[in-house]
Amino acid sequence: MADKTETSEKGMVACDACPVLCRIRRGKTGACDRYGNVDGVLTRLDPMVMARKVSAGAGDMVPFLAGPDWDGSLLPAGETFVTGIGAGTTYPDYKPAPFIVASSPGGVDMVTVVTEGIFSYCGLKVKIDTDRYIGPEQAAVRCQGEQVGHVTTAEYGSQMLALGGVRHLTGGSKREGNVTCEMMLTMCNGGPAELEVEGGAKLAVQAGQPPVVDGEREERMRVGCGSATIGMFAKQWHGHVDEVIVVDDHITGVLTEHQAGRFLEMPPAGIRVRGRKSTPGRYFQVAEPGTGWGGTDITDPLTIVESIKPGAAHAGLRLLMVSTTGEDAEYFVLDEALKPVPAAMPRAVKTVVERIGENCEPALCSVLFMAGAGGSLRAGVTENPVRLTRSVKDALTRVTCGGAPVYVWPGGGITIMVDVTRLPDNAFGYVPTPALVGPIEFTMRRGDYEALGGHMAAVRDFADIGQGGARLKLTGWRADNPWPLDPSPDGGKNDGGKR
Ligand code: SF4
Repeated sequence: MADKTETSEKGMVACDACPVLCRIRRGKTGACDRYGNVDGVLTRLDPMVMARKVSAGAGDMVPFLAGPDWDGSLLPAGETFVTGIGAGTTYPDYKPAPFIVASSPGGVDMVTVVTEGIFSYCGLKVKIDTDRYIGPEQAAVRCQGEQVGHVTTAEYGSQMLALGGVRHLTGGSKREGNVTCEMMLTMCNGGPAELEVEGGAKLAVQAGQPPVVDGEREERMRVGCGSATIGMFAKQWHGHVDEVIVVDDHITGVLTEHQAGRFLEMPPAGIRVRGRKSTPGRYFQVAEPGTGWGGTDITDPLTIVESIKPGAAHAGLRLLMVSTTGEDAEYFVLDEALKPVPAAMPRAVKTVVERIGENCEPALCSVLFMAGAGGSLRAGVTENPVRLTRSVKDALTRVTCGGAPVYVWPGGGITIMVDVTRLPDNAFGYVPTPALVGPIEFTMRRGDYEALGGHMAAVRDFADIGQGGARLKLTGWRADNPWPLDPSPDGGKNDGGKR
């Protein structure tokens, strides 16, 4: 995008798209490489991405037309969405957003306000599908030696990281801020990050890819906790084994004690596991966390057997011990001294162990970008920013990032989360304040935009966006993202075009 900033006598241009206020020599770029001095004109160097709704086989956004000469007139406005990618940023706060675009899909007058937000308040929520212990909750996560986040509460079958955030961007050393920003930028754009948890594991994480924990590439996400695994497969084990212990760092399950085993009228096997009994057949803390069976530190499952009670247990008793992914499993038969002796696993038992594996989903890393739409951004949409917030909360305004759907947090402000794999490639940038730059679009009916105090004088027709030398790139719409120009935003409060 070409800017109207005037050139100085020395051929320098001043970039006012962020607080850094670079002065850029002819032929050079500013500190963020987003803007440059092209023949004495401040220019947004990346093309602005337009996404066209196409029918079957759209798939990922793939460029199929680019060029400075295209004026947008070839495309029906209702079928093309103007994303914030490459749109540029306006600064300071009171200036209207770079593009405020009118269109009339299906005869409904809509406005999309498009910008590249500069997010000082932003971070990543990273979900790592693994049972392996990555480190204690709250432990520091480091990148290139700098703390860039921490381990947060584990979820069902996944370890979680909270990375980035304003404290690491601004509250530590300059290097900490820069490393944090670089790490977030890489991950937001789909690249890999090498991380190390203090007192824990070395991690290689990349959105949409399997995690690598201490050099081990994770394949399976567990089917459930130990107790859930008992519940799911109890009936299939019944008659083939006398006891099953599903080893899990959080909730280890013991079949004959568990409600599932009782329901099947299985007699108690008399095998007691270590740890703290929660409820019948469900044990906590049977071992230390680690990278062994079921996210524990054990490699020999018998180490969690505390006692075997004569009477209930008997010679010949068939015992299966298995992990929550089915990757680890051993079959034992008790001898005359009630000692578990490894034995060949019968076919019927093996089939169920394999079924545990079959029910595991592929282990992946998921990266959600989370950010707050701050003052500059909201003032670029309306002179009365709180009305934009209300409009978003009332589902009158749809928020997207590069066309991808976002989750808007309840409560105050416009705090969003978006799956970075749903944006087009390289949608994110940075400025050296440091902060992340990300595309954001607000789409609403024209009447609603006017009512919230929108910058009506800055609204331009869709067909005019290519004027003035803006470089445009046209891509296909990603079929699994909802179409933002649909007049009925999520939330159901709109009435399908009647209002
Ligand atoms: S860092 Fe980038 S956006 Fe900010 S003033 Fe410099 S060139 Fe412009």
